[in-house]
Amino acid sequence: MSLCLVAGAGIILVVIGSQDTIAKTVHTFIWFMVVWILVLVICWTSAVFLLYVTALPHRIMRERRRRRLAGGQCLICGYDLTGNVSGVCPECGRSVA
Ligand SMILES: [Zn+2]
Repeated sequence: MSLCLVAGAGIILVVIGSQDTIAKTVHTFIWFMVVWILVLVICWTSAVFLLYVTALPHRIMRERRRRRLAGGQCLICGYDLTGNVSGVCPECGRSVA
């Protein structure tokens, strides 16, 4: 009888111990996944931000070029070329034609 109690207690301890181990494993896995997802989100956000920041100067220059073309200005220096018939910007010497 006492041997059965000891064996039963042993089995219960093993089951509790394994449940504790499983719970710790699941807990660790969930934390690993949460941290991994956070790392992925941070990496993707940084990548998108860096792409946007590196493309920004090009977009600014393209907008300035479009504005100068529409306003009849020199593309290099922005000098107003209204009425200019020489075909050369008097400010920077760039050929306008
Ligand atoms: Zn010019």
